[in-house]
Amino acid sequence: MAELFYDADADLSIIQGRKVAVIGYGSQGHAHALSLRDSGVDVRVGLHEGSKSKAKAEEQGLRVVTPSEAAAEADVIMILVPDPIQAQVYEESIKDNLKDGDALFFGHGLNIRFDFIKPPAGIDVCMVAPKGPGHLVRRQYEEGRGVPCIAAVEQDATGSAFELALSYAKGIGGTRAGVIKTTFTEETETDLFGEQVVLCGGTAALVKAGFETLTEAGYQPEIAYFECLHELKLIVDLMYEGGLDKMRWSVSETAEWGDYVTGPRIITDATKAEMKKVLAEIQDGTFAREWMAEYHGGLKKYNEYKQQDADSLLETTGKELRKLMSWVNDEEA
Ligand code: NDP
Ligand code: MG
Ligand code: MG
Repeated sequence: MAELFYDADADLSIIQGRKVAVIGYGSQGHAHALSLRDSGVDVRVGLHEGSKSKAKAEEQGLRVVTPSEAAAEADVIMILVPDPIQAQVYEESIKDNLKDGDALFFGHGLNIRFDFIKPPAGIDVCMVAPKGPGHLVRRQYEEGRGVPCIAAVEQDATGSAFELALSYAKGIGGTRAGVIKTTFTEETETDLFGEQVVLCGGTAALVKAGFETLTEAGYQPEIAYFECLHELKLIVDLMYEGGLDKMRWSVSETAEWGDYVTGPRIITDATKAEMKKVLAEIQDGTFAREWMAEYHGGLKKYNEYKQQDADSLLETTGKELRKLMSWVNDEEA
């Protein structure tokens, strides 16, 4: 069983006794910086020249300095800039400002797991990763609750890195809900696998294939959209609340029978064999290396894929249909 930690297991005074730099003020950065500040922690935000979020951070009462100044002032440095640029920010602004006994924090393990960032031996390397988007992390904190976090230590130079990570997690409300101990390796590999195989890649491919099968057979795209994409939310909400069991309790017996007999014809042993290959390519670093090459090569294929899907019948149909549903919010936060 996983090891779980709550408020009583974490000592907030540890992080209150440190100087924290939060580098980046996006989804996670704003939530961490504001909640740490409200937990009585000395926080500064490190943002690059021309940052879009600088004004917002200042309006919200935070002191904004450059990433190098933030790293120089602080002894706990949380890196919350996009994963593909973390190594560059580390090289340019953080590396030379690290002193023995400092701690480098991450919200995701990719750069450490695949050695894009190689911190020196004298510092603690920790992860505190909320299992939810930053805006929920902040809202839950303000309401006196929290989003569960996972925490890990890659390098324990001081001998008390995990206590520090738990204290940080308490500062953003994580221990109110519960913190699960993991490793950088487990977090990184399962996160990449989940998003590729099930959450984003697998689900999007399933929706597209189902929609195309119906429309190629001559059914109206609007009807196919409802059946293959729109209704997915209702099903996922039920799974989220009560697992497969609650979903099957709620759908008709006909749907439940179809689930049992047809599901395994769609996701077959061959699909699972491919999942194992995907996992192996994540574990041996192939995926991470290819993604970094694509990102730093100007995102050519990425933009091609994006455009292809934007032009697809599924997406153009959905765009029109969602206008009929005033309760569906089509804006990006
Ligand atoms: P966002 O893309 O939301 O935010 C990135 C922030 O970094 C922005 O404020 C951006 O500034 C800033 N930034 C960009 N370049 C630089 C730079 N050179 N120097 C300093 N700041 C810079 O990131 P996320 O919050 O989504 O992700 C941050 C980390 O958290 C990642 O490791 C991610 O994997 C992890 N994570 C994210 C989750 C999420 O909910 N999104 C969930 C769990 C973990 P500006 O826009 O002002 O120009
Ligand atoms: Mg991820
Ligand atoms: Mg039906």
